[in-house]
Amino acid sequence: MRGPDEKPFDPAVSPLFVNAIREELRRVADERRGEPRPCPNCGSDARRKNGYQNEPKTVARLVTADGIEDVGVDVQQYECLDCGRSFQGDLSALFYEGCAYAKPVVDLCLFHAADESPTDCERTLRRQYGLQVNRDTVARYVDRFDAADGHAIDIAGHRYSLAFLSFLFGDDEGDEPHFVIQRSTALW
Ligand SMILES: [Zn+2]
Repeated sequence: MRGPDEKPFDPAVSPLFVNAIREELRRVADERRGEPRPCPNCGSDARRKNGYQNEPKTVARLVTADGIEDVGVDVQQYECLDCGRSFQGDLSALFYEGCAYAKPVVDLCLFHAADESPTDCERTLRRQYGLQVNRDTVARYVDRFDAADGHAIDIAGHRYSLAFLSFLFGDDEGDEPHFVIQRSTALW
């Protein structure tokens, strides 16, 4: 159901492309996360896995024809064998500390906020990527972080973050836009 304050989705580019972005983000969110780390209470390296957190950690909020869809990763929990403390695994590969969304989404906000107001940025993310990030959240990221990688790629007359698309669609060579033609399936 669409909430009363949710606008209908109005993509700026081909819906197929936006859908491909969504599909890749869902794939990211399918993975479990939480690398082993020392106990934050006593520093011990003696631990055992202790299930997963009840609530997934949000990677991104997707704007779909049916409304907003949160995608998140399951977070590995550990139990310290010395002090008994239960703690979550290390998420720093995918998340900045204290951010509601995954690093690529935060960096994407910074990329567009470099030359757009937070309000325009919210709209751009929604229309070009099918992502929901509130303008206040964008503004907080701008206050907290330095500018992100500014490499851009033009798609259908719109400026896209190369780093973000490479994260989703690329192999390990994040600087090259050739991922666009390496895929066997057409993205747009
Ligand atoms: Zn401990």
